[in-house]
Amino acid sequence: PSRDYEVKQRQIYRGVQEMWYFVQQELEKLKKKGHDINAPELVNLIQDIILSGKEHEIVLLNDLQELSSMEGHNIWRATESRALSDLIQRRLHFLQNPLECSKARKLVCNLNKSCGYGCQIHHAAYCFIMAYATKRTLILNSKKWRYHRGGWEKVFLPLSDTCTDPSGLDRSNWPGTNETQVIELPIVDMLTPRPPFLPLAIPRDLSDRMIRLHGDPQVWWIGQFMKYLLRYQPETQKMVDEAKEKMNFKNPVVGVHVRRTDKVGTEAAFHSIEEYMLHVADFFNKLEMKETVDRRRVYLASDDPSVIPEAKKKYPDYEFLGDVSIAKGAAVATRYTDSSLRGILLDIHMLAHSDYLVCTFSSQVCRLAYEIMQTLHPDASSKFKSLDDIYYYGGQGPHQQVAMYSHKGNRPGEISMEVGDILGIAGNHWDGYSKGVNERTKQSGLYPSFKAVDKYNIVDFPIYSEVAI
Ligand code: GDP
Repeated sequence: PSRDYEVKQRQIYRGVQEMWYFVQQELEKLKKKGHDINAPELVNLIQDIILSGKEHEIVLLNDLQELSSMEGHNIWRATESRALSDLIQRRLHFLQNPLECSKARKLVCNLNKSCGYGCQIHHAAYCFIMAYATKRTLILNSKKWRYHRGGWEKVFLPLSDTCTDPSGLDRSNWPGTNETQVIELPIVDMLTPRPPFLPLAIPRDLSDRMIRLHGDPQVWWIGQFMKYLLRYQPETQKMVDEAKEKMNFKNPVVGVHVRRTDKVGTEAAFHSIEEYMLHVADFFNKLEMKETVDRRRVYLASDDPSVIPEAKKKYPDYEFLGDVSIAKGAAVATRYTDSSLRGILLDIHMLAHSDYLVCTFSSQVCRLAYEIMQTLHPDASSKFKSLDDIYYYGGQGPHQQVAMYSHKGNRPGEISMEVGDILGIAGNHWDGYSKGVNERTKQSGLYPSFKAVDKYNIVDFPIYSEVAI
């Protein structure tokens, strides 16, 4: 399949989803009006339309998925995904294992950012992307890491077999010069000057293949760094395997992450378990149109230990695999200690290995699970439902969309756009509209999500000609 064909097909898939977000929200508003004027028959009729409309959407999405796997396209996608990922992994291996460590150009990254596990891993991945883009071997300084005092290598394989020594002839803080042997990186929030290759940038030499292969090449790219970074030590692998076995983790399963405690009211809103479970039910309803599902399994992760018993009580038809003891360990007091490492590592692993994710992308825990998920399928870009934000990477450059169709803003709050207008996107309201600013007119407000697509930031990275294609 050509790149344009693949892109268009995924656009239609998203278009169907957006159409249903819109129609459903509008019908919900009508329903409320029906309540207000005390017209129960009208309310029931609208409710029927919502239920049938949902079925229409599910069947359309199913058909689109089938269409996309016909003519051997699925086989092509699996092969291409493996080839492209292998290429990047070999480049990273090459970068990390220079012939002479004493002469290698290095980038030193300190794993001492004071934040949670997801945030720490994102910090490491940002360093790794910087290393790849400047062709410097990444040296991860993780002594006294707050999630394991013994350091990174007690949990994950070392980033290099040959070069972990941070010393060199001369050193400087970022940016230094091309010749400086050792450069030390600050956290992304303090980085000046900011180079062009920070997320969500994608590398020019691979961008065509990435865009053809994947519905969100920006997150797929991040996933590749996670794939290299998060290679488990045998001990870690054993711990994960045993936990999986013990909880009887099996597919199909939906991963649900409910982020509460310190996040609620500060960085995110409270969402009830019912809101998450609506989307879990959608997933299984869709699946059951095609196959029999023996059990509706949900892997439920949370930092709020009351969520799991509540879910079990309210949804007796579902099997919940989460572990209350893990959630208890995640509660605020012990959050940033190495005793909480096991819990968060397991939770993220299981979420990533689920068939579908329901969560809030305002949490780094879920964004990390989503990134890892991309390394496990040719294209898992639509296997999620976020109750709040669209995907982003902390410290990222501007996220832009481009208008594919013109639009005349009629409703209050809506903005207008011409084909080709660049839109800075702040978020998707999951009701048919996204919020953003039209960079041509400087108008800011709501625009219909189905008329715009992501504008990728394609940037020159080194092409690693030493590594065979
Ligand atoms: P964010 O604050 O949600 O964006 O993500 P961070 O990973 O930076 O910090 C949150 C921290 O809270 C995590 O690293 C965990 O230590 C803890 N936490 C949050 N949610 C969970 C969960 O579902 N399971 C476990 N085990 N810990 C969690």
